[in-house]
Amino acid sequence: MEQLLEVKGLKTYFFTEEGVAKSVDGIDFALDKGKTLGIVGESGCGKSVTSLSVMRLVAEPVGKIVSGEIRFGGEDLLAKSEKDMQAIRGNRISMIFQEPMTSLNPVFTVGNQINEVLKLHQGMTTQQATLKSIEMLRLVGIPLPEKRVHEYPHQLSGGMRQRVMIAMALACNPALLIADEPTTALDVTIQAQILELMKDLKDRLGTAIMLITHDLGVVAEVADEVMVMYAGKVVEHGEVSAVFANPLHPYTLGLLASIPDIHEEVERLETIEGLVPNVYAMPSGCRFAPRCKHAMEKCTQHQPALTESKGHKVRCFLHSDAVEEDAQ
Ligand code: SF4
Repeated sequence: MEQLLEVKGLKTYFFTEEGVAKSVDGIDFALDKGKTLGIVGESGCGKSVTSLSVMRLVAEPVGKIVSGEIRFGGEDLLAKSEKDMQAIRGNRISMIFQEPMTSLNPVFTVGNQINEVLKLHQGMTTQQATLKSIEMLRLVGIPLPEKRVHEYPHQLSGGMRQRVMIAMALACNPALLIADEPTTALDVTIQAQILELMKDLKDRLGTAIMLITHDLGVVAEVADEVMVMYAGKVVEHGEVSAVFANPLHPYTLGLLASIPDIHEEVERLETIEGLVPNVYAMPSGCRFAPRCKHAMEKCTQHQPALTESKGHKVRCFLHSDAVEEDAQ
């Protein structure tokens, strides 16, 4: 399988009056063409900052990619000018967001908004772009696309607006689609339809997908690989089948235990005690230690390294004694 995206040693920090927030602190991953990588974790774990880093949309000067490499289709994205990145965004790399109402412009019809992308990146005329917009709306399952193309976002349901966002993101047939919590704002039946649609489009168009979510259930549905992040670090990473068959990190186990099982009646769902650490004062040693039931003395003194265990990677002293060299 051909590699599309490679991220190595990525560190994205935010320099604020309160201190330095190490939002993404040395992560590595790769994504092959036509595959889906699920990036999972709680708010503030660094998953969205990872996707913004790939898009080169980190708000400078407060935010900065301080080190690492991002290679896309063999090209070094960190060496690109802003003008080059503008030609890549929305064209070869597209993004869909959680709440389509805030991403769609309320004063333009959905057709106008998809047309703009096609005119800008593909040089189409208005007539060509309108025909393509109708085709894209049909592709994402919007009924009567010839009529809907002339409607405004407020005339569509939440699920339809998210389909429009997906149509817009896929209009230029991007090699990489970044979907940041694409189904969180939708009810469960619409969520299932949107996930099914993404899976189907990936198979039909060969688009690679980076799926950002807090929900391991969503990852199990659509992803090939899963990367669990905690406090700016990757704590577990591998094929979905390997990680779900043998989850190893106490944080991943906690996330899995907090998914409700419709076949089992329980009084209370499991939760992970404690809070995500303050980004300005990360614990020394393992960042999960203050919340971990298995924490040992060395967990508070050293940062565990990401090592191979049971067919995937995990960062935990329960599975290897290796210490991260670069830890501060
Ligand atoms: Fe828990 Fe220690 Fe493993 Fe961290 S390294 S997850 S504190 S057991």
